[in-house]
Amino acid sequence: MAEIELKSVLKSFQGLEVIHGIDLTIPDGSFTVLVGPSGCGKSTLLRMMAGLEELSGGEVRIDGDRCDHLLPSARGMAMVFQSYALYPHMNVEQNLKFGLENQRLARSEIDARVRKAAGILQIEHLLARRPNQLSGGQSQRVAIGRAIVKEPKAFLFDEPLSNLDAELRVKMRGELISLHQRLDATMVYVTHDQVEAMTMADRIVVLNEGTIEQVGSPIELYARPRNIFVARFLGAPA
Ligand code: ADP
Ligand code: MG
Repeated sequence: MAEIELKSVLKSFQGLEVIHGIDLTIPDGSFTVLVGPSGCGKSTLLRMMAGLEELSGGEVRIDGDRCDHLLPSARGMAMVFQSYALYPHMNVEQNLKFGLENQRLARSEIDARVRKAAGILQIEHLLARRPNQLSGGQSQRVAIGRAIVKEPKAFLFDEPLSNLDAELRVKMRGELISLHQRLDATMVYVTHDQVEAMTMADRIVVLNEGTIEQVGSPIELYARPRNIFVARFLGAPA
């Protein structure tokens, strides 16, 4: 598990500031959802935690230690993307193993982790398939499996369910909540979907135009939205 802290985090692209000094603590072991309209900066913020995007200012800390100068692989976080990002020329088993090859793990340890992740996600029967032989739901399971095998301190999800049909999306929400309970890891989950945020989060961060509007539990935000934006966005009575 891990506590992630952002301090005065800024991000500009080509001189245009899109993240305006964010202070946020993501508690150890929480399921924290970052929610807000398209373009508000959710992915950029997540990518800065992961180390996939440089900060223009401020700090990122894990368990109190600065990590914004560390490579993504050294941060103990694993990211799951909306696009799955599987390697098309590798089968599922190879995709699951790929990120572990240079971690100096014993062959037996790698195999054990792959079997465990495949068991949790119920994809044992798919291990020999290539990504083009998988459904969207199966692909997303593999993408999540690729994060699980790393045994990260924190999982970072960027709209992982938005390419799935409505029925499967609802099913996978439940599975991700179970996964959180089972793995006891910190999870940061980005979505533009209010229902997803309200049903999955133990803590919600509402973002708008690169700033935080409000942080709280789903019930707190629904019952006591701080402003009209939060109330409207979450569909609560204003
Ligand atoms: P969200 O994930 O909430 O939809 P993003 O984090 O993708 O939002 O984008 C936030 C803002 O930053 C948007 O205005 C977007 O156009 C801009 N942006 C994101 N990535 C880049 C980039 N690589 N170059 C220029 N602008 C970017
Ligand atoms: Mg995004």
